[in-house]
Amino acid sequence: MTAKYVYLFEESRATEESLYILGNKGAQLAEMTAIGLPVPPGFTITTAACLEYLEKGNKLPEGVMDEVKEKLAVVEEKLDKKFGDNENPLLFSVRSGSYVSMPGMMDTVLNLGLNDVSVEAFAKQTGSERGAWDSYRRLVNMFGDVVMGVDHAKFEEQLDEVKKARGVKLDTELGIDDLKEVVKRYKKVVKDNTSEEFPQDPWIQLQKGIEAVFASWNIKRAVDYRRINKLKEDAGTAVNCQAMVFGNMGDDCGTGVGFTRNPATGDKEHYGEWLINAQGEDVVAGIRTPQPLDTMKDVLPQAYEELLKVYDILEKHYKDMQDFEFTIERGTFFMLQTRTGKRTAAAAIKIAVDMEEEALITREEAILRVKPEQLDQLLHKQIDVEANLEVIAKGLPASPGAAMGKAVFSADDAEMKANEGEKVILVRTETSPEDIHGMAVAEGILTARGGMTSHAAVVARGMGKCCVAGCESISVSEKEGKFTVGDHVISEGDLIALNGNTGEVILGEVELIEPQMTGEFSTLMEWADEARTLGVRTNADTPHDSKVARDFGAEGIGLCRTEHMFFEGDRIKAVREMILSKDEAGRRRALEKLLPMQKGDFKGIFEVMKGLPVTIRLLDPPLHEFLPHEEKDIEELASEMNVPVDELKSKIKSLHEINPMLGHRGCRLAITYPEIAEMQAQAIIEAACELAKGGVDVIPEIMIPLVCHVNELKAIKDKVVAIADDIIMASGVELTYKVGTMIEVPRAALTADEIAAEAEFFSFGTNDLTQMTFGFSRDDSGKFLPEYVEKKVLPAEPFQTIDVSGVGLLVEMAVEKGRKVRSDLKVGICGEHGGDPASVEFCHKTGLNYVSCSPYRVPIARLAAAQASIKEKKGK
Ligand code: PEP
Ligand code: MG
Repeated sequence: MTAKYVYLFEESRATEESLYILGNKGAQLAEMTAIGLPVPPGFTITTAACLEYLEKGNKLPEGVMDEVKEKLAVVEEKLDKKFGDNENPLLFSVRSGSYVSMPGMMDTVLNLGLNDVSVEAFAKQTGSERGAWDSYRRLVNMFGDVVMGVDHAKFEEQLDEVKKARGVKLDTELGIDDLKEVVKRYKKVVKDNTSEEFPQDPWIQLQKGIEAVFASWNIKRAVDYRRINKLKEDAGTAVNCQAMVFGNMGDDCGTGVGFTRNPATGDKEHYGEWLINAQGEDVVAGIRTPQPLDTMKDVLPQAYEELLKVYDILEKHYKDMQDFEFTIERGTFFMLQTRTGKRTAAAAIKIAVDMEEEALITREEAILRVKPEQLDQLLHKQIDVEANLEVIAKGLPASPGAAMGKAVFSADDAEMKANEGEKVILVRTETSPEDIHGMAVAEGILTARGGMTSHAAVVARGMGKCCVAGCESISVSEKEGKFTVGDHVISEGDLIALNGNTGEVILGEVELIEPQMTGEFSTLMEWADEARTLGVRTNADTPHDSKVARDFGAEGIGLCRTEHMFFEGDRIKAVREMILSKDEAGRRRALEKLLPMQKGDFKGIFEVMKGLPVTIRLLDPPLHEFLPHEEKDIEELASEMNVPVDELKSKIKSLHEINPMLGHRGCRLAITYPEIAEMQAQAIIEAACELAKGGVDVIPEIMIPLVCHVNELKAIKDKVVAIADDIIMASGVELTYKVGTMIEVPRAALTADEIAAEAEFFSFGTNDLTQMTFGFSRDDSGKFLPEYVEKKVLPAEPFQTIDVSGVGLLVEMAVEKGRKVRSDLKVGICGEHGGDPASVEFCHKTGLNYVSCSPYRVPIARLAAAQASIKEKKGK
């Protein structure tokens, strides 16, 4: 690499470094050139030039255009044509391309170099006068829109008028004179709207085109896309200038998009679509619904042969599914782009497992190929296809999953309604990059036009969102806010559902069923289990949740919160009675009522989790959370407890706390009301003994929450152990149990050595630990934390992803101190972070024994733990 700002395709390769300099598209054009694929020649202007351009208030850095001229001359020589020549013209495209592809978010201009004179020469050169004028009208349109800021719709209006006047429907039905007329009208549109002429000088066209692409880094849809996808703001875009090839010169031409495997299902097939006699953007724009690729076999057999070869070369070289764009000019096949294809979670898994089995990649690579977060798509409920559904239309199953919501017809409405808490489905004739903000908040997307590679389909798959595309039987009126299909009129706000696996559009509410983990999904999970060293448990409080988690591979319960059990059925009455009793005797009477119910709860959970450890936490929340607030409930309770209403009210008032999260909760309850902890310990151990007697393998772990001083733990533990040992002795069974603590208060972490002397295990309650380390209220931080992240005051939301340098430091310190005192101390984490992949990696690195997360995140944690282990081995 010698040039400063501009590189010919043959001057570089795709490397991790070059991606950031040349953008993904530029780097891959270089790579494809290097491996001998038929890429039209060209060059890439670096992202550095873009950043300088933007920094200088939209001014190209000095020397860029000189370098462009120099490189362009090399391309001219190669093709034996001259840029913008009036006899033998060479045309260029300018396309954006950042370090990751941002489909359709930034600008492109094609056919640069055409003008009133060269269009004639171009017609002669290509032998297609029609093709030449079609290319020219596209240039004026794109240049007018992208560079000169004229609304695209203004050009569309003129095109429609000419089509109407000629009595034709399709652009392809327009003749040469019609297209000349269109060009004339387009140039007038430019003049009328900008007071400037469409520039005839090819070099001005090129420079302005390059500048417009650089500037498009900051247009709204690109900024939105980066925000939604958490992409780097300061990366800039490169510009790829490439010699044009033409898919619109007649019926021996075409353009299309291919995927080396099916991006929705992962099936190994030649997947893609093309349009005959069309240029680039027509396919993705969803304007004409394209044909499946195998239709090329009969029309252009030679090009089809080339296509098959390309599939093969791309997969073998990249060893991953590729999404590529091609153009066929007069029967000759050209590659315009390739990138790692976006895929659904199901496809990601299938492709990874299949490629391992085909020996294309190693097992470790297969495990690293699937993003743990992406599994979330497969862990949501699915539409029950056995149910009685009112299917009103069927489109293409463009992105799988299920979605139910109210129909909306614009991205802005989708955003507005979603902000009000509504679930919406965005229905459009077709989507465009401007709709990105609405797509991001919608449950699902339905379009009437466009194929499997249309904008809607590509973006939805990237977002992991259910999408039904090309549903031709529906007729959408965005203006009137409705769509019709057969006799049905679906208006804004009507409830519809989409099945992204079948393409069905369903009217009204649908039944959803639990997802299944089968096939390649379970294979990948087995591989992950072999690779990981970190255990994965679940946070579950019911037999049902425990079962779901166990089916997803949980290796025990890391946190059973007992407070939820206190609300079930009639129990809340006994709980209230306990809390509001005047003295210990009264509390014990109420607790007597709760004991058998608690025992039943634990038996149910132990049964489901047999053979695996179950950590049960003693009561944690402040007591007032259980109290009645409604007048009617208070009166009812007073009569049941046989106390005057006023007396009860004043007791309730006395339990009010100014700052309950830092108040009378956690182990503080067990210090002041030991009988609650005693009842719970009794229920746990009696349940365990009864099951153990029946031959069930029960492994109870009793966990004391919110400890800040070892003396708290010691006092409560002594009571728990005394009760437990008595019960075990009396029952005559062999039962081992553990007593441990949560580390949720910074003081506990700081004195972990003292605490470990009493605790057999630690479980980091990182929700509270984050709250108390930052001093951010868990319940109120929603008011300011999103802005903290947006303004980059914090790199991430600390309640979602563990704050490694602060909270993480406390965790590391506590683990080290604890294990110094007790070398076999078992250590886990049970805050929300247990299901967050980045936090799981931290837990692996810190040497925790396990993470515990909600049932539906168990597979995510398993995969994240495996990836952490592999990355560590690779020394990354
Ligand atoms: C925690 O604080 O991280 C925890 C798991 O406990 P809870 O969320 O119930 O306070
Ligand atoms: Mg807590």
